Order: sequence, then structure tokens, then C-alpha cells
Amino acid sequence: MISVQDALDQLFALARPVTTELCPLTEAAGRVLAAPIAAKLTQPPFAASSMDGYALNSVEADLHAQFVVIGESAAGHGFEGRVGAGQAVRIFTGAPVPEGADCVVIQEEVERRGKLITLLTEDTTKSNIRPAGQDFGLGDEMSAPRRLTPSDIALAASMNHPELCVFKRPVVALVSTGDELVQPGEPPAEGQIIASNTYGLKALLEAHGAEARILPIARDNRASLETVFALCDGADLIVTIGGASVGDHDIVADVAAGLGLQQSFYKVAMRPGKPLMAGQMGAALMIGLPGNPVSALVCGHVFLLPVLRVMSGLTAAPAERLTATLSAPLPANGPREHYMRATVTQGQISAETRQDSALLSVLAAANALLIRPPHDGARAPGDTVEYISL
Ligand code: AMP
Ligand code: MG
Repeated sequence: MISVQDALDQLFALARPVTTELCPLTEAAGRVLAAPIAAKLTQPPFAASSMDGYALNSVEADLHAQFVVIGESAAGHGFEGRVGAGQAVRIFTGAPVPEGADCVVIQEEVERRGKLITLLTEDTTKSNIRPAGQDFGLGDEMSAPRRLTPSDIALAASMNHPELCVFKRPVVALVSTGDELVQPGEPPAEGQIIASNTYGLKALLEAHGAEARILPIARDNRASLETVFALCDGADLIVTIGGASVGDHDIVADVAAGLGLQQSFYKVAMRPGKPLMAGQMGAALMIGLPGNPVSALVCGHVFLLPVLRVMSGLTAAPAERLTATLSAPLPANGPREHYMRATVTQGQISAETRQDSALLSVLAAANALLIRPPHDGARAPGDTVEYISL
């Protein structure tokens, strides 16, 4: 049995980034930018007014000074001439500042009669002009890799990139195993239950940039499992669920080995999730998760999402750990790292009373996994503990 950290390190060593593709800007949100992009222009490309007002020369801006308005500069329609002594140009936000002017006096501080304006201020310390290149200059870079946020998309657009080179979405094949399972919507016969894990994992993985495919349920026999493995062709990551313990019907490791799985590890010192296995299987990485619904989803957060990060082209990192203050006592932990279903509200965290790894209703009510290190002693209210946000 290896530690969670060792298991993650081995997975990071196996995981490879997928290849890249060009993606239109309109489809690129949430994708991972594969290579830095350089601005194809300077922004703003010219000195621009940040206010509606009058452009003039600040050395002339005395209180009650008068100017003749000789023209107008609007966004997209600049003023062609030059602002001379005693002259001003009516200007609007985003419009180019005409030559000869070095400040914009806002319209509220000006009195206008016909073509004549009188200043009601002499304070021009704020020029109300955005200099050319204030946002970014030609050739300035957006770094990669990064998961593209809406702000990144706007910046890339502003840099005049209509499409971006991004990593493909890693393809994940999700395989439920078990004679007792039926898909949601099918009426279960006696002794049967609904396959739920694959649906939760698909939602989790797709929320983090994967394309997840739910395959037909593999039955607990060699031929059925081999058939379903054959359908995983083309996947970057194959995830099996269940059949990974040591029961008579737990044949996943055996069948996968027969199909060429180079197993890296089996069994991790964690709760829930002990019977986890992983290895290389042809071109794909294979991870075998335990069947209990909570175990599978906890392993999804602790292992699948960090692996997906690497496959998506991002740097390797474990699930982010936050801290909160315990609001109820906890007994001492055993030898395995325990991921307890818990609720965090305003920095206070408490573990759910029922921690059975089959209880999806408890997991759905929780918003955190409270982490107990191996052999952690009893904890009292007020202690600081770590958790992963769900
Ligand atoms: P196993 O690891 O195959 O022994 O499964 C452990 C427990 O998880 C059993 O009670 C299974 O019925 C249940 N289980 C396995 N796979 C799934 C699944 N895809 N959805 C819901 N429950 C499952
Ligand atoms: Mg089973």
C-alpha cells in the first residue's frame, strides 16, 4: 500500500499532455492555451480620451480662459487638424486626442455658448488621456499554459487573435463493472442497482475540460470486460469502476493485465478508496477506481482531476487544500488518510456523522472533503484542519 502522495507522483509520471488544435476564440473559454500569444498591435493604438469633454493645451487652461471649438473627435472618427492657441476640439470617450492637445477638460467643467467655451476650472492635473500602449504594446505576450478565463478571451480578442492554439480535450472512457448494475432509466430487476458513479464522474471530468464517454456496463466476466475495453480505443484515459477488490468477481486487474496493462500500483493508504490501481495500457493511462459511489467520486477529486490537469497541458498539482476551523470534535484517525464528507460554512467545518462510502445522499449534502492525515490524533473544536472544496 502506498501513500496518496506517492500514488499521485506515479500518476504524474505516467500522464502525458494531449496534442493541440486551433480553436476559434468563441469556443476557447475554459480550454488550455498551449503556446504564448503575442499582441498583433498596440492598445490603445493612439492616445485616446477617457472622458467626454474638450481637448486643449493645458498651458492655456486658466480659470475662465476661453477657447474656440474648431471641430469634433468621436470614437472611430478622429479630428484631422491641429489644436492651436486659443482653440479646443469637442471630444468623446475613446476618440483620438488631436495633435496639439495634451489634456481633456470634462464637459461638466466647461460652459459652452455657440462655438465658444469658458473653463470653470484650472485643474488639469488629471489629463483624462489614455496614452497609446497603456494596456499593452505590440508583441506583449499572454503566457501559456493557462486555462482561458473570460478575461483572457477578451484580452486575446483585443490582441487581435481570432483563434487560439489550445490543448485538445482529453478523452476519458468510463467503464462501470458489475452484474448488478443497470443504467439510469432502466427498471432494475431484483438484486440490481443503478450505475451512478459514471454519471457523477462524467460531470466532474467535463466540468474540468475533459470529454468523458460512458461505455456500456461490463459484466463480471472476462469476455464482457474485454469487449468493453476494446471500445475504449482512442481514449487518453480509461477509468474502470468497481471490480478492483479481492473478491471472486473482482477481475479488472486480471483482465487488464491480459490486455497489456503495466500496473504501476495497486492499493493506496486512503479512506475511502483503498483498492485503487493504475498503470499504462497501450497508449492510454488506465486508472481502476473502487466501486462504492463515494469512493469513486472522492478518488475523482483526489486523483482524476490532477491527472486531467497534466493531460490538459497544465502543470502537475494535487487538489487544492484549504483550511477551516473545526466546529465539532473528531476522534483519532487510523493509518490511512481519511477524506471525510463535511460541510464548511463561513470558515467553520464539521464532518457528517455518517461516513459510509456508499452514501451518495451524504456526499451530495456535503460541500467539502475534510482531510485527516494518517495517525492524526483526536481533534477539538477550534483546531485548524485542511479540506478540499467539492
Ligand atoms: P465492487 O468494487 O465492484 O465490489 O463494488 C463495490 C460496491 O460499489 C458494490 O456495492 C457495487 O454494487 C457498487 N458499485 C460498483 N460500481 C458501481 C457503479 N458504477 N455505480 C454505483 N454503484 C456501484
Ligand atoms: Mg463489482
